Amino acid sequence: MAESVRWIGQLKTATVVEEADGYYVALAVEVYESVTIKNGHVVTGVDANIARFDYRDATGYQSVSTMTAKLLRLYERITHYQRLLARKRLANPSHFRSHNYCATRAKLQRDYQKVTRIQLDLLHKFTHHLVQANDVVAIEDLDNLHMRMNKHLAKNLHRSLFGRFKEIMQYKCTWNGVKLVMVDRFYPSTQRCSQCTFVKTGADKIALEGNRLHRTGHDQYMCYQCGANMRRDQNAVENLIQYAMVN
Ligand SMILES: [Zn+2]
Repeated sequence: MAESVRWIGQLKTATVVEEADGYYVALAVEVYESVTIKNGHVVTGVDANIARFDYRDATGYQSVSTMTAKLLRLYERITHYQRLLARKRLANPSHFRSHNYCATRAKLQRDYQKVTRIQLDLLHKFTHHLVQANDVVAIEDLDNLHMRMNKHLAKNLHRSLFGRFKEIMQYKCTWNGVKLVMVDRFYPSTQRCSQCTFVKTGADKIALEGNRLHRTGHDQYMCYQCGANMRRDQNAVENLIQYAMVN
């Protein structure tokens, strides 16, 4: 093995997987560990958007980009390879597994692997920071995010990032004694005013591009009741934090 096992305990299973650049073995080791439940009052909320996560920490509002230039380039390349392969299959349905076809498929698989690794690296750093710095974290139901993805994005690839985010948060919160609050999917975190709790409805609602009727921008939250004027993401983060405090 390239390294020795880092945990002492009973070895339960070994799973061999083939990835684009070789074979990997995943070892499951059972270890006993006690978890101290954090019962402090440091709360944050994570507002997930297509291009970034917004949250708040001790020093203020923060953003983590999920659409880095590198990921976008890989998404594009993957789409390109997929098209190439489809064309090859169509041109020669009975005998398409040529040397060329296999070489292109290997390139595609290597790019898939790179995407997964970049996404995981980004998510592990971000989630580690969240569970270290907070006692309670509120996250949104991310299933409706895909509706906001544009047609040029490799949607499945990008959507998997948000699926992984939720998964990692679930186990890391358990490990670190952090309370994870899943925000109800109908909670209007975008439409609600975090200052006075007024909720926008009908023509007043803010869409992705803002509000045409009131001529507000896409990144602006203007309350028609109390007059508060906030950054849209920061207002959403505040709403998620308030949700966490009462749920
Ligand atoms: Zn208001």
